[in-house]
Amino acid sequence: MPTLLPTASLKLALYLAAMGWHIVPLSPTSKRPLANCPRCHSTARPGSTHPIETCPCLPTGRWCHGVHAATTDPARLSTWWQRQPDAVPGVAAGPSGLVLLDLDAHDDPLPADPATGLLPGIDLTGDPALAELARIRTGLHTLTLLARVRGGPHPWPTTPEHQPVVTTTPSGGRHLWYRAPSANLRQALGKLGWQIDIKAGWNYGLAPGTTTSTGTYRLRSGDLASPGRLPEWLAHEVLRVTAPTPTQPRPSPTLRRERCYGAPAAYLTTVLTRGAAHLATLTDGRQRALSALAYHVGGLLAWSGLPEHQVSAHLITAGESSGLPTRLATRIVHRALLRGVRAPLPPPPMPVT
Ligand SMILES: [Zn+2]
Ligand SMILES: [Zn+2]
Repeated sequence: MPTLLPTASLKLALYLAAMGWHIVPLSPTSKRPLANCPRCHSTARPGSTHPIETCPCLPTGRWCHGVHAATTDPARLSTWWQRQPDAVPGVAAGPSGLVLLDLDAHDDPLPADPATGLLPGIDLTGDPALAELARIRTGLHTLTLLARVRGGPHPWPTTPEHQPVVTTTPSGGRHLWYRAPSANLRQALGKLGWQIDIKAGWNYGLAPGTTTSTGTYRLRSGDLASPGRLPEWLAHEVLRVTAPTPTQPRPSPTLRRERCYGAPAAYLTTVLTRGAAHLATLTDGRQRALSALAYHVGGLLAWSGLPEHQVSAHLITAGESSGLPTRLATRIVHRALLRGVRAPLPPPPMPVT
């Protein structure tokens, strides 16, 4: 029998915060963080962001900087909900020490090439699942497939140690909240498979128990005070798809001088993840911001050595997570990335390591 959660938003926020879930107020209609004040809005462009530590707004009870403002402080939560009683609580994954597997149940067509498109980075050629594609309709099915391929008996074991907090979403999907692996997932965002998004770091999900204009995120199982750890095989998969790696060594003489090999890849990964975090705080101008990010990243792609498909997938996920429809995000990314690739940027000055 799942725990009965408070239905009023502030009570729910306080209840979860008391158990260590870092709460951020979201709009009940857009399900995105509430807008920054004009001052923080104007400084929130990439490159000109003022550090959240020195933002004057948070101590005065504002909610600027979206998910970066997330807190467990009951006084701050109370102030927020006094100001915006219809806000709904979201959970900042990284600050809460959690990782969210977001299993969708959209009525999307299967990938054009299911053998390579269902589970990114895993070739399913010859797998019996390909003979029964009609059985794969949601992210839950994709996760079950991944579990079989990678040796997990079931996507979420029922032993308390590995049992996630599970909610069902108004659109028929599921959220699995796990304790994050100890590896650095501070900025992670990725696709584990078709209709499965990973949200960690400065990314967020609707809090268990939240009611938005589309319905309630119902708690089904799991211990809110102590969500289970990812089973080892699943932690490995999450880390695999959220950590971009360079494809091959690059023979450029300037790069050979780098003391730290892989620094360009790490640099571009930082640009990507900061850009994604910035997108997540925007309510207006998301298309323009995604396009600008993809163009910039495209300009550095060859230098970074990161594989284009991986970078492109990260950008699309960032766009989707900011609330843009998949098709639109995909179109913007493909177009702007290509323009960027055709106009390579000079390598940026690297920090001394
Ligand atoms: Zn502000
Ligand atoms: Zn600010």
